[in-house]
Amino acid sequence: MTVATAKETRGFETEVKQLLHLMIHALYSNKEIFLRELISNASDAADKLRFEAISNPDLYEGDTELAIHIEYDKEAKTITIRDNGIGMSREEVITNLGTIAKSGTQEFLRSLTGDQVKDRHLIGQFGVGFYSSFIVADKVTVLTRRAGLSPELGVRWESQAEGDYTIETIEKDKRGTDVILHLKSQEEDFLNGLRLRHIVTKYSDHINIPVMMVVEDFTQADEQKKESSPKEEVVNRASALWTVPKSEIDDEAYCEFYKHVAHDFEDPLVWAHNKVEGKLEYTTLLYIPARAPFDLWQANKPRGLKLYVKRVFIMDDAEQFLPNYLRFVRGVIDSNDLPLNISREILQSNKTVDSMRASIIKRVLTMLTDLAKENNEKYLTFWREFGQVLKEGPAEDFANRETIAKLLRFSSTHADSETQDVSLDDYISRMKEGQDKIYYIAADTFNAAKHSPHLEIFRERGVEVLLLHDRIDEWLMSHLPEYEKKHFQSVAIGSLEDLEFAKDKGSEAETDKEKSDFEHEKETFKDTLSRIKDALKDKVKDVRLTARLTSSPSCIVADEGQMSSQMQRLMRSAGQLVSAQPILELNPHHLLVQRLSHENDQESFHDLSQILLDQAILAEGGQLDDPATFVRKFNELLLHVAKKGNGKDD
Ligand code: ADP
Repeated sequence: MTVATAKETRGFETEVKQLLHLMIHALYSNKEIFLRELISNASDAADKLRFEAISNPDLYEGDTELAIHIEYDKEAKTITIRDNGIGMSREEVITNLGTIAKSGTQEFLRSLTGDQVKDRHLIGQFGVGFYSSFIVADKVTVLTRRAGLSPELGVRWESQAEGDYTIETIEKDKRGTDVILHLKSQEEDFLNGLRLRHIVTKYSDHINIPVMMVVEDFTQADEQKKESSPKEEVVNRASALWTVPKSEIDDEAYCEFYKHVAHDFEDPLVWAHNKVEGKLEYTTLLYIPARAPFDLWQANKPRGLKLYVKRVFIMDDAEQFLPNYLRFVRGVIDSNDLPLNISREILQSNKTVDSMRASIIKRVLTMLTDLAKENNEKYLTFWREFGQVLKEGPAEDFANRETIAKLLRFSSTHADSETQDVSLDDYISRMKEGQDKIYYIAADTFNAAKHSPHLEIFRERGVEVLLLHDRIDEWLMSHLPEYEKKHFQSVAIGSLEDLEFAKDKGSEAETDKEKSDFEHEKETFKDTLSRIKDALKDKVKDVRLTARLTSSPSCIVADEGQMSSQMQRLMRSAGQLVSAQPILELNPHHLLVQRLSHENDQESFHDLSQILLDQAILAEGGQLDDPATFVRKFNELLLHVAKKGNGKDD
């Protein structure tokens, strides 16, 4: 114990130093949020105490009136935020206030640009909590003792944010935490009872617990105030927001509560507040954030709702109430049916939880459906931030597949824009007479999809095609065979026979003529096709003519029932062995293809066939087995053309 008692100076973890640097250099235009962050922490500490005291009432140490006190001292230039919550032990102080446990912090810090405006947005996604003290303070002192530990095991932590802090063991009678902010000289305006009250009601009206301040008579001059007795009053409403009737809550209160629950700095996009009565009784307050958190894709990132049972906080991040594809939802659930001593393990296999989860999913999907109907601009913001996560839905949640599909948005050849704003209903409303499929193409990038040769005939005939370019899209499609009874069809798979509907309704004689022309071409090219097949051997499954292409000479397609080449690539990148030969399709009207049928030199024939296959693979975004040879042969061909241009035909 003697070592622990001594005052010790310790360095902050590198990440903390970087964050503090950001704080000190005043990234925040809105400085007053420091108070919200500290009150939020104090309220969490009260929640944790209440929870732990369920199984160990001694932790209350005879004091069950949980509250937060805010005091300010004009002479000392300090503001103190005091709580009688759970407090911290020495080890907890070292971990909580000296390191950052969030995974992905490194990546986050690397993503900062040094541009104050951009970084302000980023830092909002990260949530800085306690460290926001240094927005207004140049020195912060924390006095704390964990509930249940003896008074000699209090801790004093102090830092001027210059790379290190001191820590010593002190005597602290009362459990809980005092955070004392020594204000920077230019921030002394905060030493004002009215202003502090205003900030508390603005940001912390609806936290679960009273925020107390000494009564002041604002009609009197400063000197007289000191004589007034230090009676305290509650300055916030102190009623958990979700327990208040909807009609009494304004948007601002919902937004501020969100920031407390989600540790976010921005307003949410939408929310839904519902009280369920009947067989099960519970209240949910669910929010959709306006911006993806920096760690949305971190596998082990905590997610889920804040769980309360009969208004007692039970746990953060109760993930059992939300499926993975709705992991961006934040908020609170308060159940009257679950036992207070419920654990994560029990949550996993609990019928009550299952049925709550099912109705929460419905609620979130309804909230999104309504948003899409009522405010497309906001919906597209949602889609930009979380669309890729929602695309996991059809695979994960079979029962709600149709509802989720309605919420999906894509790029398409209708506008050829990279912005994903086309819904399946939009697509269906523009389908041509007789069209019974939803066509799509999937590629690695938007440009690869947009310029794919497979689209040529569709563009010519005015048939819209969805341009899928997110990594997850092929996987999504494999779990979404149809929508509104219309099958999805990759334009890179199978033959084109079902495109008949999209032909110009010219004279029948014309159509018949086209058909007979195509038959004639097939006949003319018969030998050439089989020669190409011989030349390419097992690299292709078949070689055939197509009406799919109008300007490119060749493309590859997958056979009916085969994986598209994009899907094969994804499987390969996931380490799976897949080898499926493509079908090479040729455009009989293209000069290169026609030239091939007149090529008698065996070697030239072989090279040209190979080039037609290779360029079709490249146009798909695929990789060549032997790119160097392709480049060499291609250059030979170019040289040949160049020589011809110079009149040096050989
Ligand atoms: P966050 O609140 O997002 O976890 P903070 O940096 O605000 O991050 O706080 C870090 C940790 O310090 C908290 O998770 C909590 O464990 C602890 N802490 C902060 N303030 C208090 C407090 N008033 N009482 C007890 N613990 C606290």
